[in-house]
Amino acid sequence: MRGAVIHAPGDIRFETVDDAKIIKPTDAVIRTAVTCVCGSDLWPYRGAEPTEHAHPMGHEYVGFVEEVGSAVTSVKQGQFVVGSFATSDNTCANCRNGFQSNCLNREFMSTCQAEYVRIPNAQGTLVATEDVPGEDLWPGLLAVSDVMGTGWWAADAAEVRPGSTAVVVGDGAVGLCGVIAAKDMGAERIIAMSRHASRQKLAREFGATDIVTERGEEGVARIKELTGGIGADSVLECVGTAQAMSQALHSARPGGNVGFVGVPHEVAVDGQELFFSHVGLRGGPAPVRRYLPDLIDRVLQGRIDPGKVFDLTLPLEQVAEGYKAMDERRAIKALLKP
Ligand SMILES: [Zn+2]
Repeated sequence: MRGAVIHAPGDIRFETVDDAKIIKPTDAVIRTAVTCVCGSDLWPYRGAEPTEHAHPMGHEYVGFVEEVGSAVTSVKQGQFVVGSFATSDNTCANCRNGFQSNCLNREFMSTCQAEYVRIPNAQGTLVATEDVPGEDLWPGLLAVSDVMGTGWWAADAAEVRPGSTAVVVGDGAVGLCGVIAAKDMGAERIIAMSRHASRQKLAREFGATDIVTERGEEGVARIKELTGGIGADSVLECVGTAQAMSQALHSARPGGNVGFVGVPHEVAVDGQELFFSHVGLRGGPAPVRRYLPDLIDRVLQGRIDPGKVFDLTLPLEQVAEGYKAMDERRAIKALLKP
């Protein structure tokens, strides 16, 4: 089979890789329906994370069950399935507490930009749809496997409530999905921080009521202006840089909450400042599995349409162009079709 392999920063190749196969009885193998490139894939692509040896890429997937191990009874061959980028048994204490992305048997997915994918912990990880959904719904369901689940977690962690005001820092696919989540959770005012016309447009389509283009102190001042001088109830930090985190912490009101889901790169939080701010802070890798059944339903019912974040569709074999287009910000998110 063939799949994407990173050899060095900027060097993604679509080439022959080891066949996906059952290794443990708890595994399944799926045939990829659609997959995509994640914003976090750009960290190694840009050299911000080291690539010491060539390795496969990709952690977002929906597909058809091809084969299951002897311990897997929850899904069967031919079913259409959605799973999280973090696999989970869905039975351990952390899973039962709703933190499946911290499962005691967790394995992160890392080989999904390929024709077939091995899914560890398949029993707890995969959720099958009742019927095979129409192809037009695949992008939305693919978004649920990571960016939509992560945007939902950001809004959940930031405790978005009906009638509240939410600020979304970051206009990538996760930030845009954060807007969808805040809207669906009933936020009355959603302020998206974005400088890019196409992303502002999509943010508005998803439910943003205000756009702030300023950053840093000016951005904070603008948020305060829009929130009666005190800051927002909820802030979703969807970037992972020091600047974005600082922006988020300073944009929340005393008693407000920040949900941070951007993988932190050189982010340090000042304990004394956090102490005196009265701002609540929670984040981490999204427990997507907790939300999967609900988010799959919302997509199938047409209540949310996170598939709109894919503004570039390519054949899987052109995966390298997907990385390039996202790196150059020509695309928000690239969908890949085998
Ligand atoms: Zn678990």
